[in-house]
Amino acid sequence: MNDLRELYEEVILDHNRNPRNYPKKPEGTTHTAHGFNPLCGDEFQIHLRVKDGVIEDVGFEGAGCAISTASASLMTEALKGKRVEEAEKLFEVVHDLLTREEQVDDDELLGKLTVLTGVKEYPMRVKCATLPWHTMKGALEGKKETVSTE
Ligand code: ZN
Repeated sequence: MNDLRELYEEVILDHNRNPRNYPKKPEGTTHTAHGFNPLCGDEFQIHLRVKDGVIEDVGFEGAGCAISTASASLMTEALKGKRVEEAEKLFEVVHDLLTREEQVDDDELLGKLTVLTGVKEYPMRVKCATLPWHTMKGALEGKKETVSTE
């Protein structure tokens, strides 16, 4: 667990200091949603450009705590080039990873995202980590209203 914890802290710090695909709204964005986590005040817009069922480009804007920012940044890296159905599957797996007691073993799909499991040591921050993912799902579903973690 110590290795994972170190890795977790390293990755979160790195992505918080230097968020990928941020602030960015890809040219020709087709899907956008606004997400808000009232518990912490994290607020993001997630933008996706989807063509022929593939997420060609993705970016995000807004502001939040280190964990929500890092989670959004990791998410954008993971989504680029994925099919919409793969992104939906990834949402489910990440959601399980963050909210379930038992270990989720889907390393192949999760890759680098496995470090997010470290958030479970800080239960108050789980919604910070899931917010970008809920927002991304809302964007794919064409949600117009704000996606809230509550
Ligand atoms: Zn937060």
